[in-house]
Amino acid sequence: MTNNNKGWFQKQVGGEYNDEKREFNYLINNTKKIIESVRSQFPRLPPIHFGILNDLHLRAFTEFYKDEYYIAITIGTLRIIEDLTIKINAAKSGTKGDYPKLSIHSGLYGVPEYFPEKKPHYVSFENIDFFDFEGHRHIIYTYIIYHELCHIFRGHILLKRKCKEINKSLFNDDLLKDINFLQTLEMDADSFATTNTIYDLLFKRMIIPNIDLTFFNDLKSFIYNFIYCIYGFIRLTDFEDLNVSDIKKRSHPKPAVRISLIFDNIKSILEKENIQIDFDLIENNVEAAFQAEKDFVKITSLENKLAVFAEVYGNSEILDYKIQIVKNFQIIKEELKKYSYSEIKQ
Ligand SMILES: [Zn+2]
Repeated sequence: MTNNNKGWFQKQVGGEYNDEKREFNYLINNTKKIIESVRSQFPRLPPIHFGILNDLHLRAFTEFYKDEYYIAITIGTLRIIEDLTIKINAAKSGTKGDYPKLSIHSGLYGVPEYFPEKKPHYVSFENIDFFDFEGHRHIIYTYIIYHELCHIFRGHILLKRKCKEINKSLFNDDLLKDINFLQTLEMDADSFATTNTIYDLLFKRMIIPNIDLTFFNDLKSFIYNFIYCIYGFIRLTDFEDLNVSDIKKRSHPKPAVRISLIFDNIKSILEKENIQIDFDLIENNVEAAFQAEKDFVKITSLENKLAVFAEVYGNSEILDYKIQIVKNFQIIKEELKKYSYSEIKQ
């Protein structure tokens, strides 16, 4: 069970968010359901608690404390996701003129410096497709929960702790080609999140109450919308044009590479399930990413960074870096097995 262990949440920056209006009830309930369904398959998992922190920073994280796990998401992250999904959907409707900008600014931890300092900008949304908005918001929430669960479930948290204890990377840098091994763990978490979000929402493994699932019923449309909103969410993180040697030192893979790895994931899920499709998957994915970039630019006044995304396919140095992140899993896998709560098959 996932009784929220209030003590730990209270001690975090901001303390626990008091959701007086029960605005996030469905998120909390859905998260519990997800945790229980993972636990039913892997009973060795220790207790996992989930809570919202009263902190405006953009972050979600997981910690291991006294033999139990804690997944925390900040109220800032939930507000940003709501703001993002409502405004990209308003922009998508294509009305001309000034688009409402994201109420996000670079003073917040986790938000890249290039975000302009802006005052919250509230407007009414007459053109928004609320079904899409709710669907997108739900996809992003589900994705984040599975991403964090993977860090627990596959032993990432315990492995990281071990590395910290002995103060070294544990891995031979030659084999890893200088890529911070954390990036491979993040790739693994993104892959787990993509797979499980798709199984829950598209293949209806999980029943979600109170959300109109219009686009969830059609494969092409679901994949398009999945890419569209996950692209938008990842786009909130750093999309700077850095050289490969700088990227390798970071904790997460280059955002454009994360998205391209998600593309690959979707392809292998469909192959594994032996699902025949009557549309071009790559074309559908690319179209969704292009539209997401266009709408994101409208609501931020930032420059269009499609070139950064396209580079993943055109620049051999970046392509090699992407392939190496995946290859590095074979090296990390052996260490991870010691800490994982399941068999690692990949
Ligand atoms: Zn992560």
